Amino acid sequence: MKNTSPDVLIIGGGVAGLSAAVELTSRGYSILLIEQKQHLGGRTYSFIHPDTGDEVDNGQHLLMGCYHSTLRYLKIIGAEDLVDIQKTMSVVFRLPNQSTVELKTNSLPTPLNVLSGLFGLTNLSLTNRLKMLRVGIDVMLKNPDTNKHLHSISVAQWLQELGQPEENRKYLWDVIAIGALNDSLDKVSAALFAKVIKTAFFGSRKNSSMVIPNRGLSTVLVDKAAKFIENNGGQILLSTTVEKIENRKQIVDHLQLSNGVTVYPKAVISAVPYFDLAKVFGDTSTIGVKFLDQFTSSPIVTVHLWFDKHFVEETFCALLDSPIHWVFNKSRMYGKHEYELMYLSLVVSGAHDFVEKDKDDIVALAVNELRRFYSNAERATPVHSLVIKEKRATFSPKVGIERFRPSHTTSIQNLFLAGDWTDTKLPATIEGAVQSGFECARMVEKLLTKFN
Ligand SMILES: Cc1cc2nc3c(=O)[nH]c(=O)nc-3n(C[C@H](O)[C@H](O)[C@H](O)COP(=O)(O)OP(=O)(O)OC[C@H]3O[C@@H](n4cnc5c(N)ncnc54)[C@H](O)[C@@H]3O)c2cc1C
Repeated sequence: MKNTSPDVLIIGGGVAGLSAAVELTSRGYSILLIEQKQHLGGRTYSFIHPDTGDEVDNGQHLLMGCYHSTLRYLKIIGAEDLVDIQKTMSVVFRLPNQSTVELKTNSLPTPLNVLSGLFGLTNLSLTNRLKMLRVGIDVMLKNPDTNKHLHSISVAQWLQELGQPEENRKYLWDVIAIGALNDSLDKVSAALFAKVIKTAFFGSRKNSSMVIPNRGLSTVLVDKAAKFIENNGGQILLSTTVEKIENRKQIVDHLQLSNGVTVYPKAVISAVPYFDLAKVFGDTSTIGVKFLDQFTSSPIVTVHLWFDKHFVEETFCALLDSPIHWVFNKSRMYGKHEYELMYLSLVVSGAHDFVEKDKDDIVALAVNELRRFYSNAERATPVHSLVIKEKRATFSPKVGIERFRPSHTTSIQNLFLAGDWTDTKLPATIEGAVQSGFECARMVEKLLTKFN
């Protein structure tokens, strides 16, 4: 490849970088996207399991109806059919006594549909169900983006202030909050949890529906995006990174890539995670990003198991009062036959205690938990297993982190920052990443319109 001068250079091929590239190429801009790895997708990818031929995700991803930018992204790249959207929200909770309850919204307008769902959680006493209303009322009355008190306390403190008994935490809040925020409730910001509840449950009725990928993550979120970008004239280079950046008068002038090519872009979007930013820019205070040292990561561990017999009926469920938080029935999600092996993905969020554990011990624990929660699991034998530890799955959304998340603009006029960790006002999610990519694309377009 010769030296090149695209309109925009995008650094990083996760969903933030891909969504920026999709948006810009759809509007006729020329882009070059570089990705340091041999594959696109960043923290969202899948591969084929050699023994079963199944698509295996690096970690199960659950999206929601309130992921409006993500749904738009899927529509643009033509991947709408690769997710199943629930008509109304339905989540099965499984208890250690092998019974289940369902959190199910109905067709009443919000928030009545959610209230009726909460009242259906009959494993909780009526008094405790009534106490849950206090959380809903607090969320309705406050703006989580601006409320100073919510920004100064953890989810655990907030739930305590709102008089939530142990039972409500154990049988509802803990599993939802750790799933949404991916770290201990003693650490994570009440503001971000309130934001998740408000966005999912107090907007349109569709917002609370679960959106479930019916293929591997690369097929759903990555491959079609890459095709869309290339079909619209964009260029993608894998195994490529930035060696050197030359700025002139607070403007990126050109960049030297690891493949020897020099790029003269009109604008640059960095879509790398917080832990890779300094590798690209050196001292990040020179681009106006300070306090990177405030960020830490939180792990997610996924246990993929294939059994010789089927014993899970639901598509997915939350395990209550278990070190395993979610069970996803991949066989069902992928529409596989009963005579094939049953493929399950088990998710542990905020998995600090799991990352150092031996993988065989994790598999043994996972199988034991399944036998504790499912009466028929005893008769099934695990045939294959695979443990994936994503040590830096998300940034930890701890109390106070919001004030350190950088905006999409930098002190360099033509350099923009995307990524789930930038100031999206959401936890680290696909939606935050896509929103940030779209927003940077919009800012670049505004800048380039001014130039031309
Ligand atoms: C196991 C797991 C489960 C998850 N579950 C969910 C879920 O259920 N729902 C949900 O919404 N979110 C979930 N997430 C979070 C979600 O995956 C992330 O928020 C999102 O993928 C972040 O995208 P990104 O583009 O901001 O960053 P990344 O995906 O990290 O992409 C950044 C890219 O930049 C590349 N890069 C870095 N440095 C350079 C460089 N110098 N040059 C070139 N390229 C570079 C990286 O290799 C990477 O590909 C989960 C994450 C994990 C790991």
